Order: sequence, then structure tokens, then C-alpha cells
Amino acid sequence: MSDAAKKPALTPLDDALATLLAQVQPLAGRETLPTTAARGRVLAADLVSPVDVPPADNSAMDGYALRAADAGGALPVTQRIPAGSVPQPLAAGEAARIFTGAQVPPGADAVVMQEHTELVDGRVRVTQPVRPGQHVRLRGEDVKAGGVVLPAGTRLDAVALGLAATAGAAELTVTRRPRVALFSTGDELVMPGEPLPPGAIYNSNRFTLRALLEGLSCEVIDLGIVPDRLDATRAALREAAAKADVIVTSGGVSVGEEDHLKPAVQAEGHLDLWAIAIKPGKPFACGRVGQAHFIGLPGNPVSSLVTFCVLVRPFLLKLQGAARLAPRGYRIPAGFDWPKPDKRREFLRVRLDEASGLALFGNQSSGVLTSAFWADGLLDNPAGQAFAQGELVRFIPFSELLS
Ligand code: AMP
Ligand code: MG
Repeated sequence: MSDAAKKPALTPLDDALATLLAQVQPLAGRETLPTTAARGRVLAADLVSPVDVPPADNSAMDGYALRAADAGGALPVTQRIPAGSVPQPLAAGEAARIFTGAQVPPGADAVVMQEHTELVDGRVRVTQPVRPGQHVRLRGEDVKAGGVVLPAGTRLDAVALGLAATAGAAELTVTRRPRVALFSTGDELVMPGEPLPPGAIYNSNRFTLRALLEGLSCEVIDLGIVPDRLDATRAALREAAAKADVIVTSGGVSVGEEDHLKPAVQAEGHLDLWAIAIKPGKPFACGRVGQAHFIGLPGNPVSSLVTFCVLVRPFLLKLQGAARLAPRGYRIPAGFDWPKPDKRREFLRVRLDEASGLALFGNQSSGVLTSAFWADGLLDNPAGQAFAQGELVRFIPFSELLS
């Protein structure tokens, strides 16, 4: 057999992602939470506002409410309207003292900021031209009563929570948290806090993956380090499958590796092993154990981070019913030449420099987690594509990937 015939075909990332996503049905479970407790969760039903926002025309300034057509005269100030009070109608030729956020009285069609007025003998005179509608925030200009404020599938970030609250929502109905069992494989692994014997390394993936899962609102069932033995691995998979919707593991999925994860998953369920055409992160396993989805990530810290970001993250978002699964990328000039691209799609660790474009971390090894710490995000370079400094390339900020 030739070498080429022996190598497994590399699956393009988009195909792998499509296959993975096709296996997910959004979780049916929902819960209703106080709006203050819903950050990061995915809204399970459209949120409709029962009120206009703002609920009434109101002033954007401290100043005077009047009719724009009256602005030429010296107008008597007939009422004072602080925020939170209910105004009287304003007659022609009158002005009302008004403050930011206070309701504009019926009859007035403009607000003049106090800096553009003078008060003479209790009458106000305007010193600048007045345009009808100026400094008036219209009823319903933000949100209309009966309208959808937040569609189902919204991930509730700070802005979405604020918007829900402007519509008066004290509680929100969200998809339940996915339960994700996590374990690391590798007899070389020891936990931080323990001595480091010869041949050992600290288990970093446990911390990275746990934080990523928690950032996606998952309930993590942390099964720690599972010894490199078939019986122990099978037992861990059974325990994980009984407790979790998804099992995520790190390590032991490289092609040709002697380890127990592959036979264990095959014995307890079924396994698809993929060599994905990305760098870093080629080996990736998925399948099922009982009712649970199984996802096996590569052991190298940057590989497990990148495969989590590009494959597991959209998977977990779809499981929660999120509308937007793909991270946003931006076209940014490269600050360096890339004359020898890999045959696989590359995710380079880069930093965003406003003046010079994207800068490359010197060591792109899949074992060097410092590269990802240093970087602001990933340069997503198509397979086999060389580029030169100044060319536009696709940049995905970590803000789109790590939460
Ligand atoms: P593997 O995918 O098991 O072949 O592991 C590839 C590389 O990643 C090896 O150098 C492992 O020592 C390392 N590695 C595996 N698991 C972890 C982990 N949990 N934390 C840090 N490095 C790991
Ligand atoms: Mg290993």
C-alpha cells in the first residue's frame, strides 16, 4: 500500500461541522428564571413587549418644551415638569420648564435646551432656531408594544438583558442548561497542586475546557483524569452517559495512537473518527454512548482549544436553541507574509494591531498555549492560500469564540 493510500482522507471543517450539527436536536427542557439570573442563557420563546418604549414622548434635554412655531416670542412658563410627573396640556404661546426623561406635554412639539434660552421677567426667550421634533424622544421609538423585543434563540448578554428589562420582563424563559461530562485522558497528566514527577505534565485542558463549557452555560460534570485502562475508560463513559447530555474528552484521539478511548467508545456505543483538515486540531472523534453525544478532542492544548471553538461551541449553542451558531469574522489586513500555507485550513494565533494589522505569534505549535494567551483571536486562512502583508484576511476575535 502506498503512503497516500494509508492516510485517512481529511474532512473539510465545514463538512465536519455540518455533519456534527445535523446530529443535534435542541433540548426540549425550559426553565423560567429571574432576568437577573439569565445571563448567557438562550431565550426559548420570543419576548414580546406589552409596552411602548419609551412609554410616552419625553425630553432628551433639560430645558423648555414649547411649540416650534412659537419660538420667536417671549413665552410665559406655565408649568414645571420633572421626570416622573404627568404634565398638563400646553397651550399655544406657552412654554414649560422640563427636565431630561420627563414627559413632553400634549401640545408641545419641541424641546429647547436651557443653554439656548434666556429668562426675562419670568418669560423665556429662545436664542437659536427651533426645529419641530427637536430633543423629543418619541413614544415607541425604541420598542413598539406588541412587537418582538428579543427573538427566540437570543443569547442573553448584558445588552439583551437590559432590553428585556426595558420591556418590563422580570423573568425570562430559557432552554435548560446542557449537562456536559468532561474528562481528560493521558497517564502523563497530573493536577496542578500535585508534584510533577519525571515524564508528567500538568493537566491544562481540564481547566480550559471547563471554563469554555461554563462560558456556554453548561452544567459541567467534571470526571477528572481517567487512567489509561480500558475498564476504567469504559466505566467513565458509562457514568458520563448516565449523567450527561454530552461527553467531552481530551486526548487519545490521534490516528494510530495506542490508547483506550477508541475501543472504549466503540464497546459502549459508536464512534466516528475524523481527521479534519484544520491546523491545529486534526484528530477529532464524535459518536454516541447511550443517549449521550460523545465528542473527543485532541490532547494538545491549542488543538483542543481550537477544535472546541470551531466545532463544539456551535454544537452546544445549537443544543440550547441559539439562533446564531457561527462566530463573526472580519476582513483585516495581515501584518506579515504567509508564503507557505498549510494544505489544511489554518487557525493562526494573531494579535490585532490598529496600525499594522494582524501580527503573528512566533511559535504556532499546537502545544504552545502561550500563543493563544498572547493572541486576540484566530486568523482563519483557507487551505493552501498564501498571502502577503497588507492583504485582507479573515480574523475571528476571541470575543466571538471563548464565550
Ligand atoms: P494526545 O492527543 O493524547 O496524543 O496528546 C497530544 C499531546 O497533548 C501530548 O503531548 C499530551 O501530553 C498533551 N495533552 C494531552 N492531554 C492533555 C491535557 N489534558 N493537558 C495538557 N496537555 C495534554
Ligand atoms: Mg494521550
